[in-house]
Amino acid sequence: MYTDFQKHLQQELQGIKDAGLYKNERIIVTPQSSGIRVAAAEGEKEVINFCANNYLGLADNPELIEAAKQRMDSRGYGMASVRFICGTQDTHKQLEKAISDFFGTEDTILYAACFDANGGLFEPLLTDEDAIISDALNHASIIDGVRLCKAVRYRYKNGDVADLEEQLKKAQAQRFRIIATDGVFSMDGNVCPLDKIYELAKKYNALVMVDESHSAGVVGKTGHGVTELYNLRGQIEVITGTLGKAFGGSVGGFTTGRKEIIDMLRQRSRPYLFSNSIPPMIAAAGIKTFELLTRDNTLQDRLHENTGYFVTKMKAAGFDIKPTQSAICAVMLYDARLSQEFAAALQEEGIYVTGFYYPVVPQGQARIRVQVSAAHTREQLDKGVAAFVKVGKKLNVLK
Ligand SMILES: *Cc1c(COP(=O)(O)O)cnc(C)c1O
Repeated sequence: MYTDFQKHLQQELQGIKDAGLYKNERIIVTPQSSGIRVAAAEGEKEVINFCANNYLGLADNPELIEAAKQRMDSRGYGMASVRFICGTQDTHKQLEKAISDFFGTEDTILYAACFDANGGLFEPLLTDEDAIISDALNHASIIDGVRLCKAVRYRYKNGDVADLEEQLKKAQAQRFRIIATDGVFSMDGNVCPLDKIYELAKKYNALVMVDESHSAGVVGKTGHGVTELYNLRGQIEVITGTLGKAFGGSVGGFTTGRKEIIDMLRQRSRPYLFSNSIPPMIAAAGIKTFELLTRDNTLQDRLHENTGYFVTKMKAAGFDIKPTQSAICAVMLYDARLSQEFAAALQEEGIYVTGFYYPVVPQGQARIRVQVSAAHTREQLDKGVAAFVKVGKKLNVLK
């Protein structure tokens, strides 16, 4: 039975390897942090981590760990249920309230992941009479969510408000319209032009959905995301996000926004109705996260300082950096092979990064993506820049 299919898979896998696109997973043997140890052939190796979404350095935060431990002791390990049957504890409701307070929204619904939040967002709300106008560089989970919905699809060029307006004009043919965009685009680090998007939404009678996965905790003076950056707190109908990046780095996703939208998702959103509740300990650590981030601005300030410091040093060293308004710093190398050689050489220097090339980024746009964290020390950032300069000279990227 399996023989033919096995042969087929083996060939496909070989094809992926031959194209140099096979993903090998590197094994970390410490908690996730700015300094980690990875397993290597010659034994474990200390590296400085520049490729986690651990923007606020909360992935190994003692207060979050303690909150999780305590709640596991008081409320057990798992829920063994979806929310609407018997999977809701007070902890889940408290976390939803904390998220609503953080974003200034009316209500929040939790999911197992933001992938689920986006996957289950559009189909319950819109029909074939409606339209979704989606940024071309939106995350895979938004693309999949749009695919699961029967609404008419329009796509506009990344962050291009003129193109968005063209699509909105066409979408006047439909009953309701929603513009869907990432808050920060994770390959470049640019933010969406939410102010202009919001203006166009008003002009063309559209709703707006923003995925704040890479922007919440990061963007805006106090890290409240793109709605803070553009002074649009409480104005956007739908925000989705993850607890898996800046907000602790564990798991969990959410949709937050207008009350009736959230209510309808609780009734009809399939990943919510048919998938397990997040464990109480994760919800408790989530509550602690929002408590920390509203207690003071230490982590957000440190992240902004660190990002500014790193990007300035890299530009001064002569690297070609994509314009960024986030904690993502795309070091442009353009050539795919060079990006892989560069990343490997950096790893030799104890700097942990990933090189991205086609099809993850456009053809001829290969790069190394650096993600800065509040957890990085000055010394770690300096070592990172020094290693980039050393490898850059060796590989003739810098003169
Ligand atoms: C990471 C990410 C997601 C997925 O989040 P998970 O909670 O890990 O599923 C969704 N959207 C965007 C824009 C992301 O960057």
